[in-house]
Amino acid sequence: MNSIHTSNASDVSASVPTLAHHVGGRAFVGTSRRDQPVFNPATGEITGRVALANDADVNVAVAAAKAAFPAWANTPPIKRARVMNRFLALVNQHKDELARAITLEHGKVFSDAQGEVDRAIDVIEFACGIPQLLKGDYTDQVSTGIDNWTMRQPLGVVAGITPFNFPMMVPAWMYPVAIAAGNTFVLKPSPIDPTATLMTAALMKDAGFPDGVFNVVQGDKEAVDALLTHPDVQAISFVGSTPIANYVYETGARHGKRVQALGGAKNHLIVMPDADIDKAVDALMGAAYGSAGERCMAISVAVLVGSAADQVMPKLKSAVTQLRIGSGLDPASEMGPIVTAQARQRILGYVEKGVAEGATLIADGRAQSDAGRVDGFFLGGTLFDHVTPNMSIYREEIFGPVLSCVRVKTFEEALALVNAHEFGNGVSCFTSDGNIAREFARGVQVGMVGINVPIPVPMAWHGFGGWKRSLFGDMHAYGEEGVRFYTKQKSVMQRWPDSISKGAEFTMPVAK
Ligand code: NAD
Repeated sequence: MNSIHTSNASDVSASVPTLAHHVGGRAFVGTSRRDQPVFNPATGEITGRVALANDADVNVAVAAAKAAFPAWANTPPIKRARVMNRFLALVNQHKDELARAITLEHGKVFSDAQGEVDRAIDVIEFACGIPQLLKGDYTDQVSTGIDNWTMRQPLGVVAGITPFNFPMMVPAWMYPVAIAAGNTFVLKPSPIDPTATLMTAALMKDAGFPDGVFNVVQGDKEAVDALLTHPDVQAISFVGSTPIANYVYETGARHGKRVQALGGAKNHLIVMPDADIDKAVDALMGAAYGSAGERCMAISVAVLVGSAADQVMPKLKSAVTQLRIGSGLDPASEMGPIVTAQARQRILGYVEKGVAEGATLIADGRAQSDAGRVDGFFLGGTLFDHVTPNMSIYREEIFGPVLSCVRVKTFEEALALVNAHEFGNGVSCFTSDGNIAREFARGVQVGMVGINVPIPVPMAWHGFGGWKRSLFGDMHAYGEEGVRFYTKQKSVMQRWPDSISKGAEFTMPVAK
């Protein structure tokens, strides 16, 4: 892998490396003077500075992608797939380096970061099957002497804008499918943890993707706005919080682009009284506190039905207070730090609000977080009982290690609660009753559903997406929906001159 650092891009003198852009197959410093620090959240240290692109920098990246498009689009899909295969081998080879880079900037534990890279690999593998996925359909003899077929062609330059919480996996929901389908790509990752995308760019170069096929611009709102309004960008894939997803969807659409914008979440896990309670508690622990709750598919609400509440709560309390919190590189840690000091403050604010609004604080993460780790952005797991739907800790996405438990009497009440929420990303139900499971899967107004599975993230060939205010747009990420998003259908009718004998026809063509 080539070096991913560039010389210092800003006037701000710093002894740490600058992480800049990757454009046209090489590191690109750009003309922007703006940058921001990158932290190791486990120590609070600044480990780098990330450049923040301006309009001109984005223009250079889009121009590089545009220049690369005609030849790449014209490359046979099987040849594009072969390059993707070489990239797949390189990602596998460098899996642990990628995972380590993720842990150092995001904070999640190393085994979880390895899992993230694995889920990225799934989509890269899926994209290697692009010749089959692009196969069109064909009807012989739609009318006498006329055939009709469809083909799917790439859009051109497409862009991805991604969040901090999966710096490797979420971009991989986008670029492998887009590029395999013949598009060229500009990725604008989160400036909080930029290294994984630069490592990805270096591996793509090593795999043999032509220069300009995959480009990375680091940045913030300025870079996003430049992409959303750029006339040469044909489509935008966004993943992040709901207010920004809404903004990206509206702004991109206003500028004539195809947009899929995946937003925030408030995922519920219903525990029925007939569920295996120990398994449900384990599921809640992993899904609520894994990655410090900073997953869009994290469970942040437990809906405890009837007698399940009194069985679950004591076990949850004991498990939360025993959570092992520490550096993500320490194999003993179950939960790493929060990604930034600001995010930690926001989460603390919610814990205070929960107490003020009358929820019962069962485990207080603030108590665990001070234990000798003042430099990192650590926070323990927090558990609330007797949470009600009017409380802000129930309504809003906290995106931290805080689990809110709501008690209801019946399954119908639980289902109605889930369905009334503004978000509809993921949901789960733990039960041993097949009929309840079936009613749940059919009736729940949520895009990704688990039955005795806490985090139902669909595999690469099924596609990922929520409902309601968790997704703006009509196509899910990756899978066949991803292929459709990154291609446009063309329908071709052919008739050869020998069969033309009647002169001009002025009526609507019908089968003859
Ligand atoms: P975020 O919305 O703050 O940032 C996402 C992207 O948008 C980043 O690239 C960021 O630089 C950019 N951005 C931020 N503010 C902007 C602005 N004002 N204008 C234009 N662009 C802006 O999200 P985050 O904090 O990085 O990630 C966490 C959020 O992402 C959570 O809400 C989580 O639920 C969501 N998420 C959703 C999914 C999903 O599949 N639905 C997956 C992962 C994360």
